[in-house]
Amino acid sequence: MDSIECVVIGAGVVGLATARALALAGREVVILETEDAIGTHTSSRNSEVIHAGIYYPKGSLKARACVAGRQRLYEYCATHGVPHRRCGKLIVATNDAQVSELKAIQYKARENGVTDVVEIPATQAMRMEPALHCIAALHSPSTGIIDSHALMLAYLGDAEAAGSMLALKSPLERVAILEGGFELQVGGSEGTRIKARLLVNSAGLRAPSVARLIEGFPSEKIPPELYAKGNYYSLTGPPPFSRLIYPVPEPGGLGVHVTLDLAGQTRFGPDVEWVNGINYEIDPHRAERFYAAIRRYWPSLPDAALSPGYAGIRPKISGPHEAAADFSIQGPAEHGVPGLVNLFGIESPGLTASLALADDVARLLQT
Ligand SMILES: Cc1cc2nc3c(=O)[nH]c(=O)nc-3n(C[C@H](O)[C@H](O)[C@H](O)COP(=O)(O)OP(=O)(O)OC[C@H]3O[C@@H](n4cnc5c(N)ncnc54)[C@H](O)[C@@H]3O)c2cc1C
Repeated sequence: MDSIECVVIGAGVVGLATARALALAGREVVILETEDAIGTHTSSRNSEVIHAGIYYPKGSLKARACVAGRQRLYEYCATHGVPHRRCGKLIVATNDAQVSELKAIQYKARENGVTDVVEIPATQAMRMEPALHCIAALHSPSTGIIDSHALMLAYLGDAEAAGSMLALKSPLERVAILEGGFELQVGGSEGTRIKARLLVNSAGLRAPSVARLIEGFPSEKIPPELYAKGNYYSLTGPPPFSRLIYPVPEPGGLGVHVTLDLAGQTRFGPDVEWVNGINYEIDPHRAERFYAAIRRYWPSLPDAALSPGYAGIRPKISGPHEAAADFSIQGPAEHGVPGLVNLFGIESPGLTASLALADDVARLLQT
């Protein structure tokens, strides 16, 4: 049976960043991935926004990791040739009740150390973006967009250059806890068993299920596995905006916002649809709600300009009627199993925070 120092489960952006951090720290790393390519789930089905760190509760891991991760991500993109653009974003109020919400958002941003978010007059916002309608706005200049696939390839390249190995079509099926490590049963065409001293569960949507594969792991430490789908619609026609436009957030997500990709395509989304399974099809009937939501800030959105784009699913660990949970990174001190780290609930801003989260995991595994 092969023996490896460290196994990372999941080749999404967080698993790859973690494998990179561990490999650069001198560890021998194997990444196990169920699918036949990297990043086919949440990491390639998101808004590709580099978030500033505005929305998250003060002192939360989301706030800390987003602010620290964003700064490091911009530096990383610049030094590793990852396509990105610091395009900035406007958060807009379209009715009187939302004006006080904007003030609360700005206050929260300041508490998180994001000091460049400024209130601007609606007239200025509408001069910056002539297609926009709003009655008040915040401007966040440090928000940007990124090519998430190029980022994942860069992380993988660094990890492989430091000696890591990626095994695709290699689903983890079962784990036995041994003295000083783990025995892993891996599926796939050949199936194999490997021993590892350290194990990182970065399985995204399936992280709670993967924790349940670890025989003897305390079940009370495994959060619920809940899914909140976010659907996107693409715009046909020239881009109406040059920066990201966000309404005030809605429960479960940030509201149907304008996202731009680096190829110049405009998309709107994601909405929030709680679902029971992993299914990325888009129900065309949802389009009506998109037209209504978008026309609050872009009244001249033409009829029939939207077509179903793609969907992603948020890995939730708190339900629709509960307060949004923080990222949960459980190390040995929390669950009692030496050498194991579980990452649960790594929804937005996980892409932005990936380098910071990876360092947290590497620190928890320092022995
Ligand atoms: C709609 C939406 C919009 C978002 N927008 C943004 C944004 O604009 N900016 C931002 O910073 N963040 C955003 N996020 C969050 C970000 O996309 C995620 O935090 C991030 O992609 C999570 O990466 P991950 O590696 O944890 O998970 P994933 O990308 O889901 O990777 C997990 C991997 O584990 C694999 N796996 C599962 N089970 C097993 C097993 N048993 N064995 C082996 N492999 C397994 C899966 O196949 C998968 O490839 C958004 C998320 C959503 C859903």
